[in-house]
Amino acid sequence: MESESPGPKVDDAFLNQFNYLQRTGALEDLAVLRNENRVLDALINDAASLFTLNSIETMMDFVTARILEQFIPTHLAILIEPPRGDELKQYCYVNLKPSAELVPASSYARIKEHFHDSPYPIAYEDFASDSPRDEGLLRFDPELLFPMCGIGGPFGFALLGRKIVGSAYTEVEKMYIDKFMRFLAIDIQNSLHRESSITDSKTGLFNHAYFTQRVAQEIAHVARHGADAGLIMLDVDHFKIFNDTWGHLAGDEVLNALAMTLKRTVRSEDVASRFGGEEFCVLAIECDKKKLMEVSERIRIAIEDMAVKYQGETLKVTASLGCCLIEPGLRAGADAFIEMADKALYLSKSGGRNRSTLYRQGLLDRAAAIRKRAISG
Ligand code: GH3
Ligand code: MG
Ligand code: MG
Repeated sequence: MESESPGPKVDDAFLNQFNYLQRTGALEDLAVLRNENRVLDALINDAASLFTLNSIETMMDFVTARILEQFIPTHLAILIEPPRGDELKQYCYVNLKPSAELVPASSYARIKEHFHDSPYPIAYEDFASDSPRDEGLLRFDPELLFPMCGIGGPFGFALLGRKIVGSAYTEVEKMYIDKFMRFLAIDIQNSLHRESSITDSKTGLFNHAYFTQRVAQEIAHVARHGADAGLIMLDVDHFKIFNDTWGHLAGDEVLNALAMTLKRTVRSEDVASRFGGEEFCVLAIECDKKKLMEVSERIRIAIEDMAVKYQGETLKVTASLGCCLIEPGLRAGADAFIEMADKALYLSKSGGRNRSTLYRQGLLDRAAAIRKRAISG
């Protein structure tokens, strides 16, 4: 007769150890550490995804979606102070839906001041205990505040309302949000640094270096795909006299207005840049000779029509433009094409200003002859 099956044998020593770990709370600690590990893993993945995004808008879409889906807060508001003193950017959600309601600028200033002295997350309750009652902020049912800091100090924060579902925020959840906001702050600063490295600080248009790089890329594209592109160089007419008459600050206002006009007048895929001083350049993607001259004249007329209000005066300027076509057959680099547009611009100047000229073969020689005559008097 077969003996009865003994079943799984539980080692007494193992059972003792298990009981001991349970009694001392080590198993609970292990579960907590496992959970923390899972959250840190999610944080690393989220930060890695965040760093692949290259516009502040897409970063904000990603961050708000991750916070809303993980914590389901009644309210979420992320505020960012933009560079150049523009309006505060706000991304506000009520019951998971985008909300038109905004945090008052005065509340932002107060919270920023707090984070200036103490750049750490804080429960709203603790923040409110030593600041006046803020009705504008209370509409957001705030529970937690997280700072966003850069080299120059705080430049934004995130406000979370209580969770719609479940208990209060755990310490590890607060840690995730805090670190996630710190990653977001780094990513935003990187994006702003990149933007300022390719733009002109006065007008916000692309700068000379970036423009030249884009022209070189477009020359390669034209050679590969055969579609022409165009270059337009423009220079404000008699701007020295303008400055002498109205002053440099008035001149700066005009350059800013001109930059806005350029941005408005060209297509979004075209590249408008400030080449330096009162000179601007446009790279027009996919255009033939006719279209290039149409764009040039559209810009010229838009500048002529500008009426810049400055200290009660209405200021007007004109500009001269030189254009050149980037064609597949022409083997020249970015600087050579820019020089061709410059030669055509010179002819617009010598021809009476406030006009557009297209570069043609032989024009170079004519421009050189005109310049030579001008120098020899
Ligand atoms: P032209 O029609 O031949 O181009 O004459 P112009 O007076 O515009 O040309 P010129 O090269 O003699 O003078 C350029 C002027 O542009 C002089 C300079 O002070 C002014 N300028 C360059 N950059 C700026 C700027 O950022 N702000 C202001 N206000 N003026 C500028
Ligand atoms: Mg000039
Ligand atoms: Mg000029």
